[in-house]
Amino acid sequence: MRKKLAAGNWKMNGLVDSLSQVETLVAQHPAPGCDVLLCPPATLISAMSAIAGSALSIGGQDCHQAQTGAHTGDISAQMIRDAGGNYVILGHSERRADHDESDAQVAAKTKAAWDADLIAIICVGETEAQRDAGTTLQIIRDQLASSVPDGATGTNTVIAYEPVWAIGTGRTPSLPQIAQVHDDLRTTLTARFGTQGDAMRLLYGGSVKPSNADEIFATSNVDGALVGGASLKATDFGAIITALSKAH
Ligand code: PEP
Repeated sequence: MRKKLAAGNWKMNGLVDSLSQVETLVAQHPAPGCDVLLCPPATLISAMSAIAGSALSIGGQDCHQAQTGAHTGDISAQMIRDAGGNYVILGHSERRADHDESDAQVAAKTKAAWDADLIAIICVGETEAQRDAGTTLQIIRDQLASSVPDGATGTNTVIAYEPVWAIGTGRTPSLPQIAQVHDDLRTTLTARFGTQGDAMRLLYGGSVKPSNADEIFATSNVDGALVGGASLKATDFGAIITALSKAH
């Protein structure tokens, strides 16, 4: 049985003042019926961890593939762990686009995350041009093959399907389109990792909000969501947590 996960990605948003949203979230959802995760900017990981208690986990949005060294401006998986994090998002399409991150780098970062005892959330997803060209499933299979290292399990890895064209746009794929990708992810992961592939949680990400959460969470092989914009406000993210908690 896979434990459902509502994960929030604050991206480059949030100052110390924004922690009041987390205090509200924890007060309103002290014992949520699903796993809840917030990934703030690195500057807030420590402070957010102090507020989180047992109600939610905290994670980073990226890590370097080395544990220490001369890499100005980067942070390591070990540092995220040291600051109170348990998860790290890797291979987000904004990292792939803004920083030219390759599948091979994502795989190396994933191994670094595991070494530091972090759960890796590995993101995959097609661009709009790739969807229009009918190559969505092949693109995602290729990303999975090259971004997810051997050794991935249901405990150390979560996969997030995030169509690039749905992130921050208010547009989402149709429910059958989400189901098609998630079913294919499950088949591909199970073929490679056996029962561990079946145990891996699959998140949908891309313009999830309170008004579409119920139907997305009722979709085949969707075990939760990776939420950007709607995770910034306690009321919106709280409504998504409630929807996931009651989803079957
Ligand atoms: C994301 O950044 O992973 C994301 C899904 O963003 P949004 O929910 O804002 O589309």
